[in-house]
Amino acid sequence: MRINVEEPRAAERFWEGMREVAAAAARHQDPGLYHSIVKIGRAALAQGVELVPSSGLFLECPVCEVLPGQRCVNAPRHPLQDNILHAERTELAEKALRGEVPFPHPLR
Ligand SMILES: [Zn+2]
Repeated sequence: MRINVEEPRAAERFWEGMREVAAAAARHQDPGLYHSIVKIGRAALAQGVELVPSSGLFLECPVCEVLPGQRCVNAPRHPLQDNILHAERTELAEKALRGEVPFPHPLR
């Protein structure tokens, strides 16, 4: 049964929730929560949730190595400019959720 919920910014809110759970998983070092993030993320995409520019926040950044849930920081040769995360992180999230590459530690 489908129910309708009024949430105009549903995609942003969804990824915001993913980021918050990722931050909690990092804070508590909880592998179960990391696995839940992958499960929820893949199921949501299968249901048509779109990726937004901040989607990658639930992963550790492959460039500046900040923890899941944390915003990127400037790194040598990888200035952030106006972005809150590195483009490589967003790209990694897309590929990992599609199953094209493995999730990085500790989501694997
Ligand atoms: Zn980064």
